[in-house]
Amino acid sequence: MKRLDDYIGIVDDSLIQEIRSRAEHLQDARIVQVNSTYMGGGVAEILSSLIPLLNDIGLRCGWRILHGTPDFFAITKKFHNGLQGEAVELSEQEKEIFLQTNQNYATYTHLTHDAVIIHDPQPMPLVMLYPQIQPWIWRCHIDLSSPNEMIWNFLKPFTEHYNKVVVSKEDYIPPDLKTPTTIIHPVIDPLALKNREMTPEETDAILTSFNVPLDKPFITQISRFDKWKDPDGVLDIFREVKKDVDCRLVLCGNMATDDPEGLQIYERVKTRVEREFPPDDITLITIANHELVNALQRRSNVIIQKSLREGFGLTVTEALWKGTPVIASRVGGIVLQIKNGYTGYLIEPTDVSEFAEHAKELLADPVKAREMGAAGKEFVRQHFLLPQLVLDEIKMLNKLLPDKKFGPT
Ligand code: UDP
Repeated sequence: MKRLDDYIGIVDDSLIQEIRSRAEHLQDARIVQVNSTYMGGGVAEILSSLIPLLNDIGLRCGWRILHGTPDFFAITKKFHNGLQGEAVELSEQEKEIFLQTNQNYATYTHLTHDAVIIHDPQPMPLVMLYPQIQPWIWRCHIDLSSPNEMIWNFLKPFTEHYNKVVVSKEDYIPPDLKTPTTIIHPVIDPLALKNREMTPEETDAILTSFNVPLDKPFITQISRFDKWKDPDGVLDIFREVKKDVDCRLVLCGNMATDDPEGLQIYERVKTRVEREFPPDDITLITIANHELVNALQRRSNVIIQKSLREGFGLTVTEALWKGTPVIASRVGGIVLQIKNGYTGYLIEPTDVSEFAEHAKELLADPVKAREMGAAGKEFVRQHFLLPQLVLDEIKMLNKLLPDKKFGPT
């Protein structure tokens, strides 16, 4: 298990010291975090790295997963899509399945901790199903800036039972939200397999073992097969780039266990690739492997993130951390990470030709690509590495539990 001291020399010493001093009050505090998948997607990534560190600094922090049927996840995917602004329908029966799944969980799982942190909409109703003997925090990772009204009106009453709502960005706070809010940025773990240092030889060996051709420069998007990640848009960009530069494209997207649309979208993209592009120009990957993602982010000449909406975009953070230049849509949390023209390029999500122009520019100018990559890496080091989240979370818990005494029970 990783320890806070392992991050000495990676982040500033002052950050480590502040964490230690602010964690003093929270020794033995029992905290539980609840989400709905153990793999795939940014939330699972963050929790798997964060929880060991919170334990290392003296909290007793656990992780529970709300399990659901495919029906349940089809419904909660509608919430996700609806919160991001899509028009969706929700039947009374679907509302019932959603509530019943949470009810079942509450029957089987006792939450008597000192604080409960609930991630995203799937386990949101739990707050109403327990006696509220402790602070409850709703940590929403989704862009809430222009939600579908019907979905928001259904979910909003749950927020009113929470003591705190946490979002990733100021403009995600819904204007009609009554609950106090805090902004906390997601982070990446520089010591995770996905982000650890790798030699060029190791990188090439991993990519070769997954049949990624290395004979030409290549651009990559790493994202679940999801319409909001716009894999079709990436194919359009590649077609433009390919007219002038001989290169390849890699689309890598695993299937999150709580995302029922992935397979369908993958099949559609695959058909389009087979119909419209020469064989071998594009590599499609659905294998979930952290070292493969690491190697792709390191070895790609350019990383694209053509999202139409993006709560934060950890794939951008990960790629910047590897010193690889990123060209990404000017949406959601991506704008917090890329200073346009300095740590990468920010492009309007519909502007395929602008994406393609910058990809060509970076493919042709390795010096500029390296400079941009280095600036991106330093920006991530200062703002978006795991210890920063540890600090933000313990600051929030200290505020919510100011006078509480924690014992070893
Ligand atoms: N991811 C992965 N393999 C894939 C696609 C994505 O491991 O094939 C990881 C990615 O590296 C990142 C997370 O899933 O850590 C995605 O987080 P992000 O915030 O970019 O998007 P989300 O999927 O949460 O919308």
